[in-house]
Amino acid sequence: MALVNLIKNPLALRAQSKLLAGAINSVANFASLPQPNTNPEILYTGIFINNEWHRSKSGKTFPSVNPTTAQNIAEIQCAGKEDIDIAVQAARNAFKLGSPWRRMDASRRGELIYRLADLMERDRTYLASLETLDNGKPFAMSYNADVPMSIKSLRYYAGWADKNHGQTIPLDGDYFAYTRHEPVGVCAQIIPWNFPLLMMAWKLGPALATGNTIVLKPAEQTSLTALYMAQLLKEAGFPEGVVNVVPGFGDAGAALSQHTDVDKVAFTGSTDVGKLIQQASGATNLKRVTLELGGKSPNIILSDSDMDYAVETSHFGLFFNMGQCCCAGSRTFVEDKIYDEFVERSAERAKKRTMGNPFDANIEQGPQINAEQMHKILGLIKTGKEQGAKLVAGGNRPESLPGYFVEPTVFADVQDDMTIAREEIFGPVQQIIRFKKLDEVIERANKSDYGLAAAVFTKDIDKANYIVQGLRAGTVWVNAYNVLSAQVPFGGYKMSGHGRENGEYALKNYTEVKSVIVKLAQKNS
Ligand code: NAP
Ligand code: MG
Repeated sequence: MALVNLIKNPLALRAQSKLLAGAINSVANFASLPQPNTNPEILYTGIFINNEWHRSKSGKTFPSVNPTTAQNIAEIQCAGKEDIDIAVQAARNAFKLGSPWRRMDASRRGELIYRLADLMERDRTYLASLETLDNGKPFAMSYNADVPMSIKSLRYYAGWADKNHGQTIPLDGDYFAYTRHEPVGVCAQIIPWNFPLLMMAWKLGPALATGNTIVLKPAEQTSLTALYMAQLLKEAGFPEGVVNVVPGFGDAGAALSQHTDVDKVAFTGSTDVGKLIQQASGATNLKRVTLELGGKSPNIILSDSDMDYAVETSHFGLFFNMGQCCCAGSRTFVEDKIYDEFVERSAERAKKRTMGNPFDANIEQGPQINAEQMHKILGLIKTGKEQGAKLVAGGNRPESLPGYFVEPTVFADVQDDMTIAREEIFGPVQQIIRFKKLDEVIERANKSDYGLAAAVFTKDIDKANYIVQGLRAGTVWVNAYNVLSAQVPFGGYKMSGHGRENGEYALKNYTEVKSVIVKLAQKNS
């Protein structure tokens, strides 16, 4: 349903806001959406090292594209191996004992992270506009989801900065032991293009709260908000070298993952690149690796669930962010008894989804990130049809729009062994699959290399608990989808990666545990 209709229709607005409020963990108030800046000034395109802007040593640049128009909007300095070496050296220097960052009180580190969040709040409209320009996501989402969720995430970790406690441990003999949770050191963070600001916040927050230094590489498709954030980090007062932002395309990621002076890599993106990063760690210095990779998440609808709510939430669970979500509910398993009606209603809902210029407030769906992704999605739709799935909505690239758009697409009669039921599509394509029995659906849901997320819709708490326990996934939603929060861990089983982002768990990714054992003097000695 178009946002403009939602605004005119308070009941529908409440239903949709509820879903979004859950998803973004704050109140989405579309009625008070500000005017976007449809032509935000692009202020930073350089390489940010030691709180200064630099050109690439090679002189190379690469374009940033607006996916809505397919036009270039900026030339970004392209960091290569030489620039990466300089950035890593800057992060290493900032991490040296006695440096301002290492001497800083933990509570002061927290204050700096709070300050960064405050600056984002000050520049919320600009940041949301820049994100929409560079990524193509609807401004209503950038403004109501990406920016406020990023702010919340940073504030959550700011609070942790001075609460990173170790333990005291009673041990045998005349000894006293305690543990210290120390920073890992220089952390490379390679972030994706689907939620550029939010993924930056998820990575920066726990790393900074625990006292690490950082070399962050934005996705080449969406460097602009990360570069603006670099300037905000400087304005917030982070000492030089603590966060370095290195836009790059081609070899920057590999240079970071192979670097022997990098202590840890955190990556969010494809499983293929995740494997390369893990291999690079093994082949060099065994740097710590955390990976948040792909998914093919099952979303299980039982026949006793509230049909309207399940259709709407499943639609949201797949089509949110143009389907470019690692946790998208891309295998919708529907119980036999309600299958046909569910398919019909889901197709109707997809056909009503509004698509177009993401700066328009009545648009739910913008373009895919680039031509490559659009062609990959269209290719998978073709394969779906060839393999016998029934196309019930969409399926094409709309000819009237110049950018990388794909119609909201729904397939019915999808079989588990079809390519569209196995491969991550990362686009607005919903697969609806029939099932009959609980044990059967649990087994089929788990038959995937991935294990990132899952959901179950039912009014029967016993069935919900049974399914929750059976599913091999890092997150399971019950009667909900895409509810993501700074407080709750997020990450994958199996080939969806390892390590957890968010919550207290993420602090573990960024700390080494040092055990200190002290001999106690003997009494009377
Ligand atoms: P990708 O393969 O996930 O990752 C590209 C990023 O990895 C770039 O920043 C690239 O930087 C870096 N990289 C490439 N080779 C590397 C290496 N050997 N070591 C370290 N870093 C390396 O992104 P994509 O090609 O844009 O997307 C492809 C698919 O990934 C999508 O279709 C989707 O399935 C998945 N994806 C998942 C997520 C998620 O949230 N989990 C997000 C985005 C995409 P350099 O070019 O500078 O090296
Ligand atoms: Mg772009």
